Amino acid sequence: MVRTRFAPSPTGALHLGNARTALFNWLFARHHKGNCILRIEDTDTKSSTSEAEAGIYEDLKWLGLGWDEGPDTGGPFGPYRQSERLSLYREEAERLIDEGKAYRCYCTVERLEALRAEQAAKGLPSRYDGKCRGLAPGKEPKGAPSVVRFKVPVKDVMLMDAVHGLLSFDSRSIGDFVIMGSDGIAAYNFAAVVDDSGMSISHVIRGDDHLSNTPRQLLLFEALGRPAPIYSHVPLVLGPDRTPLSKRHGDFSLRGLREEGYLPEAIANAIARLGWNPGEGFLTLEEMAGRFSLERLSKSGSEFDIGRLKSYNKDAMNEKGGRELASLLGIEGAGIDKLAGLADALKKNASTLNELRSLMRPFLSEPAPGEAALSEIREERSLKVIRAFSEELDKAAGPEDYEAIIERVKAATGEKGKHLLMPARLALTGEREGIELPGVLRLLGKREAIRRLEKWLR
Ligand code: GLU
Repeated sequence: MVRTRFAPSPTGALHLGNARTALFNWLFARHHKGNCILRIEDTDTKSSTSEAEAGIYEDLKWLGLGWDEGPDTGGPFGPYRQSERLSLYREEAERLIDEGKAYRCYCTVERLEALRAEQAAKGLPSRYDGKCRGLAPGKEPKGAPSVVRFKVPVKDVMLMDAVHGLLSFDSRSIGDFVIMGSDGIAAYNFAAVVDDSGMSISHVIRGDDHLSNTPRQLLLFEALGRPAPIYSHVPLVLGPDRTPLSKRHGDFSLRGLREEGYLPEAIANAIARLGWNPGEGFLTLEEMAGRFSLERLSKSGSEFDIGRLKSYNKDAMNEKGGRELASLLGIEGAGIDKLAGLADALKKNASTLNELRSLMRPFLSEPAPGEAALSEIREERSLKVIRAFSEELDKAAGPEDYEAIIERVKAATGEKGKHLLMPARLALTGEREGIELPGVLRLLGKREAIRRLEKWLR
């Protein structure tokens, strides 16, 4: 039975990199008719918040990724929030101590800092020197705070990674690391291992940034006498400058992208291509699940391309009917038929819901030009064009050929280019940008267009 997990720390918003990890775990589980588990890794009590946890649920659901077991849904391997599993970690740590595979360390922060400084001065990597490893029982300082350290065995740790192939790590480069803090809280590597084994996780798909944790985790699995899952480390998501995607590149949180008017299916298609090659074309989550395989994951860093997301979003918007788009836009104060008609007419010109909303605005409310636009409209030269537009529209009979009307205004006024089009656009919409003028006239209709033009002539 395939069991994957997505294990976010609720310390902030989900960004594209986390979302991709969640998606791959979900797709792999779906492909194999297994289960995908949501585990909340909130042992870092200082930076974990319940708001961030609620945000994770909301973002995942919005993206269309449900979970089979999790803190809110429960399941046979719960609890699924690490802060509720602390006693389990303590028990396992005690067991390792009893078996001589871990020990209490009483070294003070000052000693550890001095050790680090000494090692740094010699150009050595910082690692614990094992001072407390051999403390004879009964020789422990009474009442002094202690951490629990794992006794790292000397060996080559082999990792058969599904993406990177066989990797080997020399455990001598890892000092005896802390598995339980002095506050009794398990360290990430230990909690992750106790949980991956306790929750019977069969496959772990996560970012390359965790590759350095994996040898420690493999050693812990071995010490606990439990089988390790199959690991797949996917390449980090990079920005256009080929450095890891971060806030410096913009707001790539799911929340931010949603607020900008990106649709979940477009994001799913864009992130699916970050390190996986499912082939061309817009795919549903079910189609992706059908195609997903670890063999098609790539080893090299994958660049996030906003242009590609925009183009998927455009496709996703064009797939939708006007009514559905209108309900997503959440515009109030206009009838659904009107909104749906406008959304249908304008969707091909927009790449995001926000762009569509701006394109629709002039057709839903009176133009409200800013200072500069107002004075431009009021120039003699503009008013002449506006008047000519109104007259030619009025004269035109039958189904309107707006291109021909623009030609006639051009002939009548002798204006062309922006002197011809901009005054009309500003007078009709109050804005400098938008769809081309014949489209504006068509959507307003002859009567409304004349009314708007005349307003400036009084
Ligand atoms: N809580 C870890 C993170 O958010 C999970 C790492 C893992 O998948 O093991 O990076």
